[in-house]
Amino acid sequence: MTVDTHKETMSFQAEVSQVLNLVIRSLYSNKEIFLRELVSNASDAAEKLRFEALTDDALYEEDPNLRIRVSVDKERRTVTISDNGIGMNRQEVTDTIGTIASSGTRKFLESLSGENAQDNQLIGQFGVGFYSAFIVADKVTLTTRRAGLGAEHGVRWESTGEGEYTIETLEKAGRGTDVTLHLREGEDEFLEGFRLRSIISKFSDHLSIPIEMLEELYGEDAEKNTPEWEQVNKGVALWMRNKSDISDEEHSAFYKHIAHDFEDPLAHVHTRVEGTNEYTSLLYIPARAPFDLWDRDQKHGVKLYVRRVFIMDEADKLMPHYMRFIKGVVDSDDLPLNVSREILQHDKKIDSIRNANVKRVLGMLEKMAKDEPEKYQKFWDEFGKVVKEGPAEDFANREKIAGLLRFATTKSEGKEQTVSLDTYIERMQEKQEKIYYITADTYAAAKRSPHLEIFNKKDVEVLLLTDRVDEWLVSQMTDYKGKHLQSVAKGQLDLGELDDKAAKEELEKVAEEHKGLLDRIKGVLGDSVEDVRVSNRLTDSPACLVVGDYDMSANLQRVLKQLGQEAPNVKSILEINPTHALVEKMDQEPDEDQFADMAQILFDQATLAEGGQLEDPAAFVHRLNKLMLNLAS
Ligand code: ADP
Ligand code: MG
Repeated sequence: MTVDTHKETMSFQAEVSQVLNLVIRSLYSNKEIFLRELVSNASDAAEKLRFEALTDDALYEEDPNLRIRVSVDKERRTVTISDNGIGMNRQEVTDTIGTIASSGTRKFLESLSGENAQDNQLIGQFGVGFYSAFIVADKVTLTTRRAGLGAEHGVRWESTGEGEYTIETLEKAGRGTDVTLHLREGEDEFLEGFRLRSIISKFSDHLSIPIEMLEELYGEDAEKNTPEWEQVNKGVALWMRNKSDISDEEHSAFYKHIAHDFEDPLAHVHTRVEGTNEYTSLLYIPARAPFDLWDRDQKHGVKLYVRRVFIMDEADKLMPHYMRFIKGVVDSDDLPLNVSREILQHDKKIDSIRNANVKRVLGMLEKMAKDEPEKYQKFWDEFGKVVKEGPAEDFANREKIAGLLRFATTKSEGKEQTVSLDTYIERMQEKQEKIYYITADTYAAAKRSPHLEIFNKKDVEVLLLTDRVDEWLVSQMTDYKGKHLQSVAKGQLDLGELDDKAAKEELEKVAEEHKGLLDRIKGVLGDSVEDVRVSNRLTDSPACLVVGDYDMSANLQRVLKQLGQEAPNVKSILEINPTHALVEKMDQEPDEDQFADMAQILFDQATLAEGGQLEDPAAFVHRLNKLMLNLAS
């Protein structure tokens, strides 16, 4: 093997410089987090070593006591965080320290601009990690050597955080990584032992790896003795402690460590299960959606441990996709330590842990919705769109998930989603049999849709569905508690018992009377419509479009097209309101050309009113102007 020993000066990726600037500017008020981030990396490195050593004992190099040490050099004004974990080789250093790998991170950075750039909450979610060192340091030196006796070469990386770094190969006796921070002017508080100790216990008590500092000796003691390393954190994995002994502050600190979040979690559930499948799980609901919630490669979720050994970060095995926002830890006593991703896919124990955890989270949410509705609303506003994927993904828990859903309706204030299906059912009209909904692109389009006219008149509540995922939701969830979910824009409107018999007979009569008009309109519109018929939905508008009961809604067709996907071209049915003055006027129109213009405009209007696009907008404008001129003359 040839070893690259020469010293190189390299440039950071453009994104890295950008992150560095953001980090330094935005996190200054929170600067002590650098220690949390660096200790957290050291702890990860120790866990990686422990994991790899399961199959290769030699990696311990006869030094199996994993620990992290924090030391200061007051003369040189440096703080050093050292670990004897897995370490890195030269390639790994360039790959991980000088680059930003995930595409999600890159996208996130692109979205950061202007005012956002000042928002340290956002940056916190992104997890600044190693770069946080530059908040307090104007130069960072990292020396590291990968574990294993074959890997005798160490690496030294150094940067002032100004666009470039140097990297060189050197000899390093001990395995693992030392990160030395050369403190900026004015940051001397971090040279004080008590300050560092208090930060460590605030952020890192829950780490199971011991964190050591040299004891502080005073007066005579200092002259007689050399200081020894002493452990400064509790050093017990948080989830293994007694539930009742863990304070909210400790939960917060632990949550922030695993979730890279700045905010406290909204809620947690901590369970120890004994018996044939023994495990502990500790799950958190964040207070805010992470920036990569919609990123398919998003990873950090629930971490798997086996008997306190970290095995992997793998959200999708331990939690279903619609619960990907859950953070936490599962620590199994029964799984083999060498469990692989492939085994996890099919493992019965994992399935049962996952099922039980899903039930726990649903239970926690139900309880929150009942006892702390404001908190639940906060949750819903952040994660509602994700939970809406649930009924389709998790058939077994469909009813439970449906009970957690919240919607805007024709009777709720504004577009906030606050109404549950149970509330809807409680408020149903005496003779109402179905749960009615409308889907549209925007709240305004839904709320003002002509399809709602008859429902408003009869004081029947309608769910206003305007999230993209809603179409998917209603296509999968057709019933709730025995009540059918019915689109107000599909099929022949049957209000069931809400309509008296007389009204139905009246509609048939009206249809018969207007047969001539309907045929004339059909003649004009030809192939652009499936049918033209008399409507019982409308009170104020002259016309609207509907599709068949089993056809794809016009809204979904639009969503699919926007996403660049194939959508069937479903023809709509034009429904007209025979009592509308405009329609009555059309019926009297002797001039066929004039009539054709009116019929075409009626159809185009109906398309616009439901948020659709005209195939030939210029023709629409032309016709409208013609009619206006007629009016004026
Ligand atoms: P994250 O910890 O979220 O991956 P960081 O910026 O904190 O992001 O660290 C980036 C990467 O650098 C880590 O994933 C790891 O591969 C490497 N790294 C950082 N510190 C250490 C360390 N002390 N020992 C080994 N590898 C480290
Ligand atoms: Mg990190």
